[in-house]
Amino acid sequence: MKKTPSAEWFEPSLRGHMHRKLRSWFRMRSRDLPWRKTNDPYAIWVSEIMLQQTQVATVIDYFFRFLHRFPTVVDLAQAHLQEVLKYWEGLGYYRRARQMHAAANQIVIEHAGKFPSDFDQILALPGIGRYTAGAICSFAYDQSQPILEANTQRLYCRLMKWEEDPKSGQSQKALWRFAEEFVPAKNAGEINQALMELGSLVCTPSQPKCDQCPLRTFCPTFAQNLQANIPKALKPKEFEHLHEVAWVVWDHDQVLVRECLTGERWEGLWDFPRFAIEADQQLDEERFALLLKRFGLKVQAPTLRMRIKHGVTKYKITLDCFDVQWKDGPQAIIGNYRWLRFDQLHEVPLHSTARRIAKSILSRRDD
Ligand code: SF4
Repeated sequence: MKKTPSAEWFEPSLRGHMHRKLRSWFRMRSRDLPWRKTNDPYAIWVSEIMLQQTQVATVIDYFFRFLHRFPTVVDLAQAHLQEVLKYWEGLGYYRRARQMHAAANQIVIEHAGKFPSDFDQILALPGIGRYTAGAICSFAYDQSQPILEANTQRLYCRLMKWEEDPKSGQSQKALWRFAEEFVPAKNAGEINQALMELGSLVCTPSQPKCDQCPLRTFCPTFAQNLQANIPKALKPKEFEHLHEVAWVVWDHDQVLVRECLTGERWEGLWDFPRFAIEADQQLDEERFALLLKRFGLKVQAPTLRMRIKHGVTKYKITLDCFDVQWKDGPQAIIGNYRWLRFDQLHEVPLHSTARRIAKSILSRRDD
């Protein structure tokens, strides 16, 4: 038989009691975060997109810098995408920035530059899913919209004593239903923020601080000491290993870079010429010569500058970065390739490994 949330959670007086406990805990214990001091839907949207896959402590500086440069949705829409990416540099998951830029343009065209307040209109914007639309509606407009993200998912599972895989379709349906039933008609924004904060600070993945939890008297997982088993552990992520090579092709005080094209991993950002080789393949001179010929590069013998190991989504990448000195031939700018002076490397949006290579170039040059 399929499991459903226990009906007792939805009994109005019990729910009201839980809301009161949550609100009083939130007012005393929550963190002082900048996006909680505003009800501007644009600022809340920026914070929510930045907080996807990124720690709060990292987001704070980016949030201030971004809003300082793009204080309104119209400012964001009018900016060049390259500049938006530059302000996003280091946060990763650059698709978020591209989609925000596209969404800002959509708001200008379809809503005269005013951030919409209708849930369906917000949900129709690029990069906004059900959680983000619910968060904006409840935090900015205090609309009674449910939320479900990583922290609340764990909290709801424990409050429901939900023992199934939380990612399964059946679980997601049940968890959203719990959220819909739990969200109050009034003060939904505060209750939703309190739920997220409780999941983040108290109902943590391991060793939740149940002694500090305002909801412990309602929690069957706590009552039965099942915190270590709920939520059910997910299968460990399987990574694919890749081996890549990057070239720092330089000539006097210039270096060759390329803009990543639509559909590439770092679309819209800049990178050093980079290509994949077979895992752990050694680059002997003959193979190097073939690759260089394929790219039309005439260079002096390459030397290894650095090896970087990094992860991108499901990939674990070993990147060998070689210095190659430009030998001769025209320095034509071909397609998305461009020669930049070393000091101009600060001006273009680079993804994190390209930025590490750039820092290494600039630091050795300063030595
Ligand atoms: Fe989570 Fe413990 Fe609170 Fe239950 S009592 S909701 S397990 S922190």
